[in-house]
Order: sequence, then C-alpha cells, then structure tokens
Amino acid sequence: MERKIVLSLFYMGIITAILGIVITTISYYGFFRREVEENLVHECRLVAECYDKLSSADELEKFSGENFRITLIGRDGDVLYESNADHLTMTNHLDRPEIKSAAKTGTGSDTRLSDTLGTEDHYYAVRLDDNSILRVSIQTDSIIALFERSLLIIILIIIGIIIVSLITSVKLTEKLIAPLKKIPEILEKSLPVTDADMYPEVIPLVEEIRNARNAQSEMRQEFTANVSHELKTPLTSISGYAELIESGMAQGADSIKFASKIKKESARMLALISDILKLSELDSIDDTPLNDKVNLKSVAEDCSERLSQQAKIHGIRITVSGKDTIITGSRTEISELVYNLVDNAIKYNRENGNIEIKTEDKKLTVTDTGIGIPRESIPRIFERFYRIDKSRSRAKGSTGLGLASVRHIAEHHGAKIDIESTVGVGTSITVLFK
Ligand code: ADP
Repeated sequence: MERKIVLSLFYMGIITAILGIVITTISYYGFFRREVEENLVHECRLVAECYDKLSSADELEKFSGENFRITLIGRDGDVLYESNADHLTMTNHLDRPEIKSAAKTGTGSDTRLSDTLGTEDHYYAVRLDDNSILRVSIQTDSIIALFERSLLIIILIIIGIIIVSLITSVKLTEKLIAPLKKIPEILEKSLPVTDADMYPEVIPLVEEIRNARNAQSEMRQEFTANVSHELKTPLTSISGYAELIESGMAQGADSIKFASKIKKESARMLALISDILKLSELDSIDDTPLNDKVNLKSVAEDCSERLSQQAKIHGIRITVSGKDTIITGSRTEISELVYNLVDNAIKYNRENGNIEIKTEDKKLTVTDTGIGIPRESIPRIFERFYRIDKSRSRAKGSTGLGLASVRHIAEHHGAKIDIESTVGVGTSITVLFK
C-alpha cells in the first residue's frame, strides 16, 4: 500500500508540474504573439499614413528597421519594393493570403512557419489609396524553436521536479500512514484511540477489531473453562467409584454396579471429547469449498436409517416425506447437521413418539412430538455446552455441543435456522439453505 501511495503522489506531482510548464509556455507564447501582431498592425498603419508624403517607393527603406520588413505590391501583384531583398527577383504576390484579403477588404494578415520551422513570419497588409498594397512583416521564433531553446532549462526543471516530487511523496506517505502503522500496537497494548492520533474514519474499525478480539478471547476462555468443567465431572465420579472398589468398601454386586457406572461415565467422556474434536474440526475447515451436490431427501433417509435402532428402543417412529431437493455444500457436514437434529428429536421425545423429516425447496424440517423447548431457552440452545435440564440431558448422554455444530454448519452454508416449539407438545426445527 505504501509503495502505491508513494507512486500515486509522485506521478501526480510530475503530471501537475509538466502540465504547468506546458500551459505556461503556451499561454506565454500566445501573449507574446499577440503583442508582436499588435506592433505589426501599428507599424503598418504608420507607414501607410506616411506613404502619401514619400516621393518614391524606395524611400520606404527609412521605415524598415532591423525587425520589420516592408514590401510594396502593385495592383497586379508584382513586387514594387522590398526592404530585405531585390524586388525584381520576386514572384507575383497576389496568391498570398494577406495580400488577397487586403485587396478585397482593405486589410489582411497571416502567419507562416518558415521552411526550417525554427522561425515564423507574421504579415500585415493594407490597401493604399492607389490600390497598391503595403505589407509589413516581422520574423519571430516559432513555438517549436522556443521549446528547443529552453530545452535544457526544461530538462533541468523536470529533473528538479522529479527529485522534489519523490522526496515529498515519500515524506507525505510516511506521514499519511503513520497512524495506521500504530494500529497493531494499539490493539496489542489495548491503548485508547483518540482523534488526535488516528483518523476518525478508522477509529470505529479499530474498535470493532478490538471488540471482536476481546469477544474471541472471552469465548476461548469460556470454552476452556466449560471443557474442563465437563471433563472434571465424569472424572470425579470415575475416580470416586474406583476408590470405593480399591478400598474394598464395594464388593460383589456393588463393585459390578460401580464398574458399570465407571463404564458409563467413561463413555460420556469419550462422547464429549469426540464432540469437541468435531467442533474444532468444523472451526478449522470453515474455508473448504462447498461444492458437493447434496440431495436433502437422501441425507434424511440415510440418517433415519442410521438412527432407526436408537429410535426403536423408545418405540419412536421416524418418517421421511417431501420432495427431492438438491443443494450445493459439503455432504459430510450436512449429514452431520441432519444427524444431530434427528438425534435430538429422539433424545428429547416421549416414549412411542413420532419424528417427521420433511424436505422440499432447499428446506429440511425435523418435527418431533417431544418435551419441547421453553421459549426463553430457544435463543440459547445453540450455545456450546448449553443444556436446558443439565442432569436430565446428561443422563441421555448429551454434551450440549450438538446444536452448536448444527449452527456452525448452517452458517458455513449460509443457511437459516428456524425453530418452533411448544413445551409438552413438540419441536420443529427448519433449516433453509440458499
Ligand atoms: P445435547 O447434546 O445436549 O443434545 P444440543 O446442543 O444438541 O446438545 O442441544 C442443546 C439443548 O437443547 C439440549 O440439551 C436440550 O435441552 C435442548 N434440545 C435440543 N433439541 C431439542 C428437541 N428436539 N426437543 C427438546 N429440547 C431440545
């Protein structure tokens, strides 16, 4: 970015300066030329006024100075007098624009570049009373010669401008981005940002980054605390039961009961760890391309098949209805999402309840006839480790991470989740894909 700003300022400086030089030269040349032409007209009129008093054309010589050249042209175009050359060798002048115009209207003017382009001739002509034409001309440098003559100075000025532009653009850029360079330090050391040392337009952005960082670190801390707590609970039970067995306090049937409790708590820990691993995997693959063509109905049928055994234990019936509907995304993630929804619909259902999975128009709905979710808990059930009834859900082997991954996958696919639930009647969760 720094390089880009330096270059832009540098080019801007150079272009402005060069344009300045060109415009000044052209307008200076314009003034100069107008001045020359005004002098020429003045001189020509003067000579014309005095012409009557001259006894012969040769006397015109008195008027031609170093600069002015005087020509007298007869009615037929022949040159009668020429101050700078022998008039007898000169060709007929009637075809010259200024002569033509003077013969017709009384006055005429023209400017012509000389053959070498280095000079130009300005002409002004008036028709005299005897119908002959008096022409005065002056030679000046052409604009090209003017440029050529000042080339060295122009080159020196341009070199000067390049150096000055380069230095100022580097200095200006340094000054411009100095506040931005302070941002990492401000964020790192949690320094306050004020108008005095930061662009006001950037302050909200810095604050936003700071807030996002804080939220992230808070979330990480909370997550670590939650994980530790969740792992500590079953481990405490396991270690307690083991101690009882070790000390010989639990014997025979009791020790078998405790061993089975140890097994159950270990299973819980394993489930928890596997959920945490899944979540962290989801966190890290957020940028994987989502390009599988996935039929939601086949995914629903597949999940219903995988969970049929578990449902059967509680006499729950799962039906899949609706139309085939194809979305673009990750097949594994979508299977995981549907699996988690149906798994919850079984866990939080009543004995002999029903589950309906319906698919149509990039939409999947899982409806159960379970315990329902209290209205105030609905916004929280997607949080990691959140369970409505901790002891009850723990007994069902739940971790509070299932819906967290549902939300994660939905966000990854840009899908919307909608929940309708009535306590004691059932819950209906819809995922609407893009
Ligand atoms: P868990 O592993 O505990 O099921 P989830 O994140 O999937 O974790 O769900 C969070 C909480 O939301 C659950 O503990 C449960 O209290 C509630 N819940 C989720 N799905 C349902 C449902 N279909 N019916 C009733 N309550 C539900």
